[in-house]
Order: sequence, then C-alpha cells, then structure tokens
Amino acid sequence: SVVVIGSANLDLVYEVERIPAPGETVLSRGLASFPGGKGNNQAIAAARAGAETRFIAALGRDAAADELAAQARAAGITLLDRRVDAPTGTAVIFVDRKGENSIVVNSGANAALVDLTEAELAEIAAADVMVVQLETPLDTVTAAIRAARAADTVVVLNAAPSGAFPEALLAEVDILIVNEHEAAELAGEPAGTGERSLMSVLTAHGCDVVITLGADGAFVGGRGADPVKVAAFPVEVKDTTGAGDVFVGAFAASLDRTADERSLVAATEFATAASAIAVQRKGAGPSIPTLDEVRSLLDS
Ligand code: ADP
Repeated sequence: SVVVIGSANLDLVYEVERIPAPGETVLSRGLASFPGGKGNNQAIAAARAGAETRFIAALGRDAAADELAAQARAAGITLLDRRVDAPTGTAVIFVDRKGENSIVVNSGANAALVDLTEAELAEIAAADVMVVQLETPLDTVTAAIRAARAADTVVVLNAAPSGAFPEALLAEVDILIVNEHEAAELAGEPAGTGERSLMSVLTAHGCDVVITLGADGAFVGGRGADPVKVAAFPVEVKDTTGAGDVFVGAFAASLDRTADERSLVAATEFATAASAIAVQRKGAGPSIPTLDEVRSLLDS
C-alpha cells in the first residue's frame, strides 16, 4: 500500500487570456474550485492508478475541509485527517490559453501538520511506499522519512515546491522526484544547468533520482546505472496544472504494485503515461487518470 503525507488545498482556478504581469489587471473568463494541494493530488493519483492509498493531512474546521473529505472518499482514499484551528489550505491558480499556469498557495491548516502521532507513525511503518513533498513543515517531512526508513517503507520524496531542503537528508531518501527547476535548486546549481550535471550531483547522495522535463519527458538515474531518458507522449496540452503530482502519485502506485512494475524505469514509464493523460484535461484533481486509462495508453 501507499501512504502519502502532505498538503491538502482547495484550488481556485481562474481561466485567463494571459497571466498578469506585476501591476497588471486581467479579467478571468471563468472560475472553478477543485480539490488540490500536492499531497492530496498525489494521493488521488496513486489511488486512481490502482494503489490502496492512505493520506495523512491537516484540515481546518470549515466547509472546504468537508469538501476535500468528500472528494477523498469519492477517489477511494482513506483520509487520515486532523482538524485544526486554521483555515483549510487554498491555492489560487491562473491558467492561460496555452495551458501554462501560475500559482499562489496559502498553507493555512497545512502548517499544523506537525508532531506525527503514534497512529500516524504506525501507518507509515505499515505501508510499502511513502510519498512526501515540501508543502508541509520540514520537521514533519524529516520525521516521516526517518520513520519510514526504520520500517523499510520505500521513501519517495517529491522535493516540491523548491525551497530549503537539507541536501544531506537525501541520503535517507530512496527515490527523489523533481522537475528541472527544483533539481537545480536542490543541487545548488544555477538555473539552466543541464540534466546530466544535476543528475550526477543529486545521485551522489546515494538516492535514485527522477528529473521531470515537461514535454521532454523524464531523466532517470541512480545507484550505479547510467541515467536514461524516458520520452514524453506527444499530446495536445490543455492544462499542465498538477502534471508533476500525477506523475509522482502514479509512480508510487507503480512501485507498490508488482515486481515487474517496481523498477525505476518501469515506474517512470507508467508515470509518464499517466501525466500525459492529465495534461490533455483541464484542472488538477479532475484530470487524474485511472489505471485502465494509463494502461490503454501504454498499450497503444
Ligand atoms: P511539474 O509540473 O512538476 O513542473 P513537469 O512539467 O516536468 O513537472 O511535468 C511532469 C511530467 O508530466 C513530465 O515528466 C511529462 O511526463 C508530463 N508532461 C508535462 N508536460 C507535458 C507535455 N507538454 N506533453 C506530454 N507530457 C507532459
């Protein structure tokens, strides 16, 4: 099974002609709200991709929390939520005509996901694969990584959004998944550094690494093996919101499944197919594909 620990947000998606520059006002063509947050999206993606999934998150005592809980139930996730005295996290997302996005997040209740309980630690120990990201407090991420390691639960870290993650802690991660921007930040290299250099800096910590490259696919490397490129599917893009989250969730589900889908490259291929489906659809949550959809793209 998969356990995801992380953020849950209500996403407010504004459709705009173009993303406003500083000082500029643009009119939105429409507004819709969806469940979001990296943790939530990754949990939904893992569940839709066929994994038995539990999701540990902090929510407020408000209507947004009830909406997120209902959505989790519908997605087949077991939500292990704490209700705290802070508003449920929200994200404001602008999506332009080309499907590019720009996002502002208010963490709200997500900041209260601290001091993992005995019950939460037991869930981590019982899972086969644990997925964490960086939208919840770093101390919690660190504690979760240590608990997973002690219990032989495979640790998947999506070091997103980029920020202060102690590079030394990568030694305790099994698989790191980052986009190019996050990879450069984490490696302490300037933006635009080639993926080969980033790969060698990051794998030097002893973890396997997947660097996602948008329309160029993903670059996979790690322990001993030469890095390989997995090509993206050529698809017509509607909205890339959450593409990285679908990638991470589907990747975890693939790792959790069967021995032949457990390899790094096989999981990357599965995740590449899942995210290719997601970018052809609008929104984050609703665009997440099912196992059957991913398999039929892989078989096509
Ligand atoms: P993030 O959304 O975290 O920045 P990426 O942009 O690298 O991450 O996207 C994650 C994955 O989604 C990519 O590795 C790729 O498989 C898929 N993807 C993203 N954009 C496209 C696209 N334009 N066409 C096909 N696949 C895409």
